[in-house]
Amino acid sequence: MNAATGARDNGALAQDMAQHATHASPIAAGLKARCPRCGGGALFRSGLALRDKCERCGLDYAFADAGDGPAVFAILILGFLVLGGALLVEFRLHPPIWVHVVLWGLLTPLLAFLLLRVLKATLIALQYKHQAGEGRLGLD
Ligand SMILES: [Zn+2]
Repeated sequence: MNAATGARDNGALAQDMAQHATHASPIAAGLKARCPRCGGGALFRSGLALRDKCERCGLDYAFADAGDGPAVFAILILGFLVLGGALLVEFRLHPPIWVHVVLWGLLTPLLAFLLLRVLKATLIALQYKHQAGEGRLGLD
């Protein structure tokens, strides 16, 4: 996104927020992967790809840019969970190594996908609530 587009998006987002004083809870919208304004429409088209707009209230999702935030949080949370789980399983159950390969090889990508989806939806809802965007000089 270039600076001119970012400034226009911030202005449109601020105008949208002024027209619609209410918004869904960012945590609830994130957990359910729903629209940050109405909390009803689906946010994702498939997987982690966003829809163009909310099918319920018509909010344009062009402002949504979670960047690398979901990946950073997912890496930290998932690293803690998977490493802790692997250590716990190893020291409590002493399974053969193939159990670790199968268990964590299947569980890690599944948890990563679910976590990325929730975190991306939550960060977009927080972005909408706080009208976050690229910095501007305020000269326009
Ligand atoms: Zn909506």
